[in-house]
Amino acid sequence: MAPRGRMRVKLVVAACLAMLGSSIAAQDLGPRFRRIGDGIYVQSAREVNSTVGIVVTTEGVVLIDTGQTVVDSREVQQAVRTLTPLPIRYVINTEVHPDHTTGNFVFSPPAVVINHAGAADAMRKADNPNRFASAAPEIRAAAEGYQLVTPQIEYRDRMTLRVGERAFELLHLKNAHSEADTAVWLPAERVLFAASVALPGSLNNIRPFVTIADLLAATRMLRALNPDVVVPGHGSPGTTRIFDESERYYTLLVERVGALVRQGRTLDQIGRELRMPEYAAWAYQERMPTNVEAAYRAVTQQ
Ligand SMILES: [Zn+2]
Repeated sequence: MAPRGRMRVKLVVAACLAMLGSSIAAQDLGPRFRRIGDGIYVQSAREVNSTVGIVVTTEGVVLIDTGQTVVDSREVQQAVRTLTPLPIRYVINTEVHPDHTTGNFVFSPPAVVINHAGAADAMRKADNPNRFASAAPEIRAAAEGYQLVTPQIEYRDRMTLRVGERAFELLHLKNAHSEADTAVWLPAERVLFAASVALPGSLNNIRPFVTIADLLAATRMLRALNPDVVVPGHGSPGTTRIFDESERYYTLLVERVGALVRQGRTLDQIGRELRMPEYAAWAYQERMPTNVEAAYRAVTQQ
């Protein structure tokens, strides 16, 4: 066959594979998967667990994060095999924490892992080689061959990744959650993987280097993209209402902590006195002290 003919066959095969990938229903993959667009799927075992994005293109698959546990990573690997014979080419980590990154080793190599500058250093510092020592047998089995895999590509500020017919815009979220946070925006599909800056129905663990001002700036920047679908780092896919709710929460928190500071209360007293009954049903109430501290820093360091 002439080279041009061979090229055409290759293109037709790629297009057929892409169509096959986009026509498979989420229920064929299992109860933990949801289809949110043509060839775009999300996996999450439980509402509070981290989400994995699976994006099928004509030239391979891009994953966004690798699962809450290594059991989830294996399940995603299986689902991708059901969706397409094409390889997983890239893994984009939306943060550095293990519930998004431990499964990198399942896919890389050969997949190339990407996150913002600082990710690899932070992951190496926090690495615990004995993390599976007391894990359940099914976790230990899924962790077979584990090694710490840090991003091979670190970008600064933003980058565009083009794979097949799709474009992925990687946006750095500064001081929003971990040492390196990346949102992934698919402008043509209007789907946003929003990292862990705003979690629906859940308090976040706010580290000392995170500021509420940066967190809200990131939230507003993401909302301004005007996505149709927002996939949070944890929790169910939704809309920009996830950002609205998060902004309302932090605004109220800073307002109430500010009022107590003006009444002369110490941080300890505020921790005991502050009430946020509107959010009593949110998960992870034990993270409230880190939220109060962040609000206290915001109010007292202005
Ligand atoms: Zn995290």
